[in-house]
Formats: sequence, C-alpha cells, structure tokens
Amino acid sequence: MENKLENKKRKSWKIIYRQLLVAAGASLFLTGCGAANIRQQSAVDTAMGTIVSQTLYVRQEGEQTESESAAVMRILTKLEEQELSWRIADSEVAQINALAACEPEESLVTVPISPSMREILAQIWQISSDSQGALDVTLGRLSRLWNLDGAAAEDTVFSIPGEEQIQSAMRDIGYERVQLTGETLELPQGVQLDLGAVGKGIACDRVSGYLRDSSRITGAVVAVGGSVVTYGQKPDGSPWKVAIMHPREEGNYLGVLTLKGEHYISTSGDYERYVTVDGVRYHHILDPATGAPARSGLCSVTIVCDSGLQADALSTACFVLGPEQGLALAQSYGAEALLVEEDGTMYMTEGMEDIFSENP
Ligand code: AMP
Ligand code: MG
Repeated sequence: MENKLENKKRKSWKIIYRQLLVAAGASLFLTGCGAANIRQQSAVDTAMGTIVSQTLYVRQEGEQTESESAAVMRILTKLEEQELSWRIADSEVAQINALAACEPEESLVTVPISPSMREILAQIWQISSDSQGALDVTLGRLSRLWNLDGAAAEDTVFSIPGEEQIQSAMRDIGYERVQLTGETLELPQGVQLDLGAVGKGIACDRVSGYLRDSSRITGAVVAVGGSVVTYGQKPDGSPWKVAIMHPREEGNYLGVLTLKGEHYISTSGDYERYVTVDGVRYHHILDPATGAPARSGLCSVTIVCDSGLQADALSTACFVLGPEQGLALAQSYGAEALLVEEDGTMYMTEGMEDIFSENP
C-alpha cells in the first residue's frame, strides 16, 4: 500500500441520498429471502450508549428459544455491564477504577484482572505505544472533566475546564506507567481507565464470535454506533454496503464501502458528540498531549481491518495524529484508512480506494 499523501486531492462534499444501512423501525421483523429458506432479521435497538442496527440472514432450521438478534443484544449488554463500562459500578473497569481511586496511601495500586481484560489491555497498550500515546485509555480523569459525552447528550451543562483542572487531570494520564503483569494490573494511584475509544470495536469482535458459533447465521451486518462488523454473505451473493456518515451534513453520507465477507469498520468523528461555544467545536476525541479536544485538522477517520478492537483503536488514534502520521499508523497495521479534513480533503490508503465510492 502506498502512502497517498502526495496525491492529495481536493474534493467537494457530495451528497448521497440513498439510505444504505438499516435505520427505521425499532422492532424486530422477519422477511423471507427466498434462497434455501434463509430469512432476514432486522432490528434497531440501543446498547452501550448508542444505536445498534442489525441485519442477520438466518437459516430456518431447528427450534430457537431466542431470536439471534436478541442474543446479540444480550451479548452487548453483558459486555457493557460486566466488563467495559466505567459508569456501572459492577463492571470490571469500574472496579479497577474504584481501587485505583481509593487507596491514597499507595503510590502504586495492584488490581487483579480477568484473562479477557488482560488480552484487551495488552492489545490497547501496543497501539498506544505505536501511536506515541495518541490513544491512551488512562485518560479517564480528563474525559470526565470535559464530559463531552454527557454535554452532547444534553444531560449536563457544558463549561470549558480551566487550565489548572486540565493540568491536574493530565498528571494522572500515562499508559506507559501502567504495568500488565500476569493476572494483575499495576497502576499509579489516581489513574482512571476509559475504554470508550475501543468499546464498540470490542463489541463487534464479540458479536462476530457469536455469529461464527451459530450454525444458522449465514450472513450479517451489525453496527454498534460507529463500529460495524460484516460477516458471511447475503443470500443473493451481493456485497455488503456500509455507509460512512457525512461529517458536516447531518443525515447525509460521505460515501459507501463495498465489502465481501468479514470486516471490521470503525469511524471516529468530531461530529458525533460535541458542543459549540463561541464558534469553537469541542468534541469528544481528546489529545492526551494537550488535554483538549484533538485539533489535527481531521473531522472524520474510517478504518477497515480484520479486528474490531483494532479498527476502533486505530480510528481514534489516527484522528488525534492527523493525516500524515495517521495514514502511516494505519498502514503499519495493514489497515485501510480514509481520513477527511475539515475542508473536505480526503486521504486514503490504496486499498481504501478500491472499496470506497462517493457515488454508489
Ligand atoms: P471514538 O469515538 O472511538 O473515537 O472514541 C471516543 C471516546 O474515547 C471518547 O468519548 C472518550 O471516552 C475516549 N477518548 C477520547 N479521546 C481518547 C484518546 N485520545 N485515547 C483514548 N480514549 C479516548
Ligand atoms: Mg475508536
């Protein structure tokens, strides 16, 4: 894959009117697909603080006590409640944070972790290191200080944090000061984890595990917010179409990815959760180096690769790094990337040029 920076192209925004992903209707419905008694299950629901859209192609055989789409929702809710959420007190992340927060006498806190959390954190730490800390899930204090997720959801009043507060929160950031040793995590007292940058990608990995284990599911596309997994194939053999949201025209699409088989797609954008104060956009992707929303010139980054966690982690890291370093990072992982600057300039890997179309 060649770095396409030298071929920087200025493109105007294009509007794509076609609705390409499952979007309407909150309930499950069934439609026949003709081929070998395969039926389509479509469902739209919420989990992990976002919208989950599913289209599953299911072979009608055997007795089922639970629909496949309901099983997917159960997996996502369990992942959030038992493992990833820092807001739900019983989750593993919340328990790690509680231990790290409330042992003021200790400078280093040792916390037991599950094998699955160890595996997740090991992968994240590698991407943090490869991105020179652009991705750093130890920024929990900083993300809570800005609280852009809450402010964008209009459940709190937003005020720009003061410089002193930012500096104080930044003292507790630092993946490189956290040790993963066997069954424990050693972290400086005060460090707080926020796995928001990777949670929806991990969710896609869990969903694909379920899809693979199911003998009835022949194809699926599942979107957990900005992270999507495609799996198997459609009964008519046509490719999956995954639309990428337009970063500046609400309700419109920037373009469409055409994919066959299993892929993981994640988009990070400054239009997802943000507030505007005096004409300045404060969005939810933070630069751990400055302690403020990332100002890399990018407004949207889409990654396509063969792991949900990786796609999600890379989309956030590349957003923070900006076009040049972002492209290089994605390429070092063999991932396809589409990076969009605020003026509409797009940068993409060579493989992305083959799968992305502005005009489907
Ligand atoms: P995403 O939408 O996947 O790019 O993730 C954004 C979310 O990840 C935010 O809502 C924060 O919770 C968290 N976050 C923001 N900036 C970073 C960063 N630089 N590194 C790790 N997590 C981040
Ligand atoms: Mg992400």
